[in-house]
Amino acid sequence: MYVEFDRDTCVGMYQCVAEWDAFEKNLNDGKADLKGSEEADEDLFVVEVPDGEELDAKFAARSCPVDAIEVYDDDGEQVV
Ligand code: SF4
Repeated sequence: MYVEFDRDTCVGMYQCVAEWDAFEKNLNDGKADLKGSEEADEDLFVVEVPDGEELDAKFAARSCPVDAIEVYDDDGEQVV
């Protein structure tokens, strides 16, 4: 399972930070940062979800008011 984070869309409401500790506040940018992620495209960050953190990742994606977080299974199917 992996997460795609569209940092350009992020508006810094930080609901995701409360749901999954992979997300942290970046108060300088007014955006979230996704720890350990790689920038796959401009402002699009991808990270593998560690075992046991799948639910947290899904809750983070559901909590985002601007849908900046998407969750995919290992087959590339979007699950959130
Ligand atoms: S909940 Fe969405 S808009 Fe808010 S900080 Fe997280 S990714 Fe950004």
